[in-house]
Amino acid sequence: MKRIFTLTAFLCLLLSVSAAVPKVVAHRGYHRAPGSAENSIRSLVKADSIKADACEFDVWLSADGELYVNHNRDINGVIIETATRAELDNQKLPNGEYLPHLSTFLDTAVTLGIDLVLELKNHKDITREDVAVPMIVKMIADRGLTDRTTYITFSRNAFDRLVEQSGRPVYFLTGIEPKELKEAGGTGADYHINVFRANPTWISELHAMDMPVNIWTVDSEADIQWCIDHGAEFITTNEPELAQQLVEKAYAPRTLKIMSYNLRFGELASMQRLADEIKAQNPDFVALQEVDVNSRRNIAPHNNGKNFVNELAYLTGMFGYYGRTLNLGKSDNRGYYGVAILSRHPAEKIETLELPNPKAVEPRVLLKGRFLLDGGMPIIFASTHLDFSNKETSERQARYIIPLLTADGIPAIIGGDFNCTPDQGAAQAMMEQGKMLTGTAPTFPSHAPNKRLDYLFGFPAADFTVDSTGEGTVSEHAASDHIPVYSTVTVDYTK
Ligand code: MG
Repeated sequence: MKRIFTLTAFLCLLLSVSAAVPKVVAHRGYHRAPGSAENSIRSLVKADSIKADACEFDVWLSADGELYVNHNRDINGVIIETATRAELDNQKLPNGEYLPHLSTFLDTAVTLGIDLVLELKNHKDITREDVAVPMIVKMIADRGLTDRTTYITFSRNAFDRLVEQSGRPVYFLTGIEPKELKEAGGTGADYHINVFRANPTWISELHAMDMPVNIWTVDSEADIQWCIDHGAEFITTNEPELAQQLVEKAYAPRTLKIMSYNLRFGELASMQRLADEIKAQNPDFVALQEVDVNSRRNIAPHNNGKNFVNELAYLTGMFGYYGRTLNLGKSDNRGYYGVAILSRHPAEKIETLELPNPKAVEPRVLLKGRFLLDGGMPIIFASTHLDFSNKETSERQARYIIPLLTADGIPAIIGGDFNCTPDQGAAQAMMEQGKMLTGTAPTFPSHAPNKRLDYLFGFPAADFTVDSTGEGTVSEHAASDHIPVYSTVTVDYTK
């Protein structure tokens, strides 16, 4: 049993949600603001004034070597790449501004804080792109805007020139395969939402190569939410304020009630009583230990043959997940012993991961789940019960667990019976990288506690604020030999 095994593993979607808060890119500036127009100076200023992360705009080179900001090939019917300054400088935008020179546009950007996403348009004569690229790169550098500028283009020629010469991130707008994009020197993909919808694995493939994803042009609430849910780093939109609101809502702090409880395989209480103790806390997640399924124990006859996970899930109205550590008795028909998770939130994936057992004592596991909170934000919640017999072993198990919890790059919580006091190795190991989310009052034995054995920890520490902690009631008639521990914590998704 040295291999890592999975009892229940299912992936609903091949998503790779990035940890970073998506940035909002105002497409052609904030042109729907009052008095604004696409690619106008005002659209740049308005994008900055609402604190959009970046302003996207489009650049053309005129026949006489002037750079202008405009989306269409023409302005009022005058084709920019074949026209001269004399013909272009008196052209007005719908808001009354004159067609902006790139230099004027950038001079304004210098006075603002917003980042720039500069699109070089496809010129009919691609040699004009070759002329435009060094001019643009110099114009940006001369104004100290290099670090604030990202380049995008549909033109493969302009893309190659920008990769060669800009020294800045260059995103391709034409939807080619992630691997091909990487080989071409692209920094990331800036593709239409339908390209990503048609190729559901591309976002995770790009992320696996550390290539950020920008998605255009998403204006409806559903499309913007899709980008957030799929881990886009940038959302390019004509509705930057709506996108900002949806991002803020998605990444708002989440307050969770969490709990850990060693059930003593039901020796001292009925399933109903244990469920009532859990329900009284109204938790989002519960880590359970000493959880039997279909066992026959002489000392717990009232719970013989019961599937604790199913019963507690049913009685609490929560989802239940099981991680077996032992087959009880000499054959499988005597039931199972292990750990469990109860959750109010649906799981995307559940894994049972075997822990190191160098002295070949009782096997121990980590039951790890990836869950989706309300609004779709992911979180790891895990349950474990570490070795009892040897403090070196339990510390080794704790150290083995930490990278398993942090591997997904999202906030992670573990609850369990760590079989150690706060000053001992396993708890200390967890606190080196994580935050203790519980108090330190003794939890065992329940009639007269003298040792803290039960904890909840959060990773990474900076993502968690502890709002309150508590322990169950000490009593001769407690429902287990441990008292449950619980906490209310707030998870910050913006870090
Ligand atoms: Mg554009």
